[in-house]
Amino acid sequence: MRIAIIGGGIVGLTTALSLCRVGLRATVYEAVAAPAPLGVGINLLPHAVRELTELGLLEKLLSAGVSAQQLVYRMADGREVWREPRGTAAGYAWPQVSIHRGQLQMLLLDEVMADLGEGAMRFGHVLQSLSAGPTGVALHFTDRRSGAALPVEHADVVIGADGIHSAVRRHFYPDEGRPRWNGISLFRGVTRLPAGAVGAVTHWAGHSKQKFVGYPIHVDEASGEILFNWICDLPTGAPGSTPREDWNRRADAAGLIERYRDWRWPDIDVPAIIRAAGDILEFPMVDRDPLPQWTFSRITLAGDAAHPMYPIGSNGATQGIIDARALAYFLATEPTATSGLAKYEEERRPRTTEIVLGNRAHGPDRVLEVAHERAALRHTTLSDVFPLEERAAIALNYKRLAGFDPAELAASRSYTPES
Ligand SMILES: Cc1cc2nc3c(=O)[nH]c(=O)nc-3n(C[C@H](O)[C@H](O)[C@H](O)COP(=O)(O)OP(=O)(O)OC[C@H]3O[C@@H](n4cnc5c(N)ncnc54)[C@H](O)[C@@H]3O)c2cc1C
Repeated sequence: MRIAIIGGGIVGLTTALSLCRVGLRATVYEAVAAPAPLGVGINLLPHAVRELTELGLLEKLLSAGVSAQQLVYRMADGREVWREPRGTAAGYAWPQVSIHRGQLQMLLLDEVMADLGEGAMRFGHVLQSLSAGPTGVALHFTDRRSGAALPVEHADVVIGADGIHSAVRRHFYPDEGRPRWNGISLFRGVTRLPAGAVGAVTHWAGHSKQKFVGYPIHVDEASGEILFNWICDLPTGAPGSTPREDWNRRADAAGLIERYRDWRWPDIDVPAIIRAAGDILEFPMVDRDPLPQWTFSRITLAGDAAHPMYPIGSNGATQGIIDARALAYFLATEPTATSGLAKYEEERRPRTTEIVLGNRAHGPDRVLEVAHERAALRHTTLSDVFPLEERAAIALNYKRLAGFDPAELAASRSYTPES
């Protein structure tokens, strides 16, 4: 079976690796001509780490990233709203890993090259269009550097893992237009902190109109120096308007430092972290409406191509990795490729649809919204207006929605086929 994966991001690469482990060989067509470790931090929740562990990657993940132990939500004035253990500290069999997106992509790329050989990766291939016939799919690419048309490629199965601006998705939904923007910009940076400056804690503070999220993504083994990833959410446009999208657009620190000048708490000093950061990147908070169908006979969608979501609740890469594993599982265990792709969609589309919609309603960060709505005045005692049980329910309900409720996870299997 000739399998073509369009897009060599985290999802495309995890799909190639997962297919290889079940004896199916894929070719990955990636638009970028020369891979580079772009982006800043991401979080991988325990159910995604379980799948990467099945691929034999746990040790490499832990040496590149950080095993998150705790999560803290607080109001903008520092009042603590919610605190919970995470990953192995919460009793999961698998850690939650905070890691640099680019490092994870490079780690996966190395694995794909080692397992499938360099010929499996076709860089500089920008998919322009595809045409499906009864015996296969013809793929039309241009060369990234020259723009010239490349020889037509043929595949029996095509997986569109080409991100939020997916050309495969556009083929089936040509009138969809640009992603939806909620008017919030994400200012992202990475700051080097001295050894011991912060623990393996994910900090969440503020509310949807001014938020700070920060967590360590790497600790240098020799010096103990910490790479601390952070994001400031601020409104910069009208919801529904057209944002400028570029993962590498630079932003200015001074305005941010001013906006966050009072966000200083015993365990974290937000203005100092922003001041000491390297480049600050600005990106709009965008998603797309959930789709009614991903699979069209021999062709399907995965990851951000299928279900781009607001980066709330650490589910972007997590859900894409689970897609990748489910795809390989069903292609290996179903009698035909088309029934494998149909089963994959049946398993994955309903849940990811719920997450996209849940994230529009603030996902687990709803705990901050409710605290802000009910207790914005400092003299209000939070527990009088927002009982602890209600906060606990928000946290648990999101875990159930996103598939990492500890009980559900312990009772379920990974997507490794039984041998
Ligand atoms: C450069 C970059 C930086 C990012 N930085 C962050 C970050 O810092 N934090 C975060 O939470 N998320 C980040 N993301 C998004 C995050 O990686 C995804 O939300 C998540 O990992 C799902 O991954 P994906 O593989 O589905 O999509 P993506 O990571 O978007 O990967 C899609 C891949 O498809 C390729 N591609 C696109 N169009 C075509 C085409 N027509 N033909 C062939 N190939 C194509 C792209 O070059 C890319 O490599 C970033 C994405 C990119 C592309």
